[in-house]
Amino acid sequence: HFEPSQTLKNLPEQFFAKLTQKAARYVQQGYDVINLGQGNPDLPTPPHIVAALKKAAENPLYHRYSPFKGHPFLKEAVAQFYEREYHVHLDPETEVAILLGGKAGLVEVSQCLLNPGDVAFVPDPGYPDYWSGIALAGGEMVLMPLTAERCFLPDFSQLSPLHLKKAKLMFLNYPNNPTAAVAVQSLFEEAVALACQHQICVVHDFAYGAIAYDGHQPLSFLQIPGAKEVGIEIYTLSKTYNMAGWRIAFAVGNQSVIEAIELIQDHYHCSLFGAIQEAAAVALLSSQECVDQLRETYQRRRDTFISALQDIGWDVQPPQGSFFAWLPVPDGFDSASFADLLLEESHIVVAPGIGFGPHGEGYVRAGLVSSEETLLKAAERIERLGLFTR
Ligand code: PLP
Repeated sequence: HFEPSQTLKNLPEQFFAKLTQKAARYVQQGYDVINLGQGNPDLPTPPHIVAALKKAAENPLYHRYSPFKGHPFLKEAVAQFYEREYHVHLDPETEVAILLGGKAGLVEVSQCLLNPGDVAFVPDPGYPDYWSGIALAGGEMVLMPLTAERCFLPDFSQLSPLHLKKAKLMFLNYPNNPTAAVAVQSLFEEAVALACQHQICVVHDFAYGAIAYDGHQPLSFLQIPGAKEVGIEIYTLSKTYNMAGWRIAFAVGNQSVIEAIELIQDHYHCSLFGAIQEAAAVALLSSQECVDQLRETYQRRRDTFISALQDIGWDVQPPQGSFFAWLPVPDGFDSASFADLLLEESHIVVAPGIGFGPHGEGYVRAGLVSSEETLLKAAERIERLGLFTR
């Protein structure tokens, strides 16, 4: 038996792995489990992207190591994608890094920029992988509360001068996981000003950049003047093109940060399979009709699920972006006990809000990653608990 290193011990608890294990036990026992707990898109990758991968896999050039900084054609595709979608101009060579999934980039950026003791600001509630990178780098994590009263946007005026002095990094994420909030432009403008003043690198996690409701178009952080001088944006193909299993994403923005990420990646995994890079370029550059269809699918799911929950008497707000619903727990429960009740009595898996940070308490997160029919079935099972009155 080998004792795990202190570094490993310092990592946050793998909350979602535990949740998945618990749900798996119910599946094994033969229950019809509805899993809304994970952010794992249920829909397949669009066929033209799969076809591009199959064809590219035949190319023996891709059977060799790829260039360690990624194929230039993919970086060029990313630049064209940003120009087309956001009117943001990027130099493909110096302002784009290809990542082995967004998660890797989010963890690596802390290792690239933090020295032990440096502060990194993270949203609370927030995506737990920000914490892992900070822990690996020995940094100090400082939480920025996101509350319903402030539409789940952080209040930078509450950051202490001491923390600002020690800060090197700030994570932001809109459309937001788990609160489903979207950003307003003034938030990003304030972030750029603050970052300039205190020499902080802003990392905007744009994983749900393509998913918003009622015609809303999420802002890229790089659309704000001066953003490139102070930050990067991380964009994944996992959610936009249902490619979560493919592990491909990219970081765009500040040149020194992009260079550092490319360097650290070379130490970890050298490069990504070239055929996946070719298929990713096809995804970014071909017709975006599949993305329009994806948005319509989530819009229908959101409308159906939220109306069904409101109809049974649960006072819930419709998500504005991402594919999550952030649902307040009924009186008499905390997020973990309510999630347990839903699993044990209704065989529905949701993520307890406390898993995303202290300000996640009082909520559970449900993913819209099942068909409308299944979401309706979930609402019916919840009604049968008799906790809500119409
Ligand atoms: N950021 C957020 C907020 C997410 O929810 C996810 C995935 O669930 C990711 C980043 C990472 O996505 P991937 O590693 O699949 O690119």
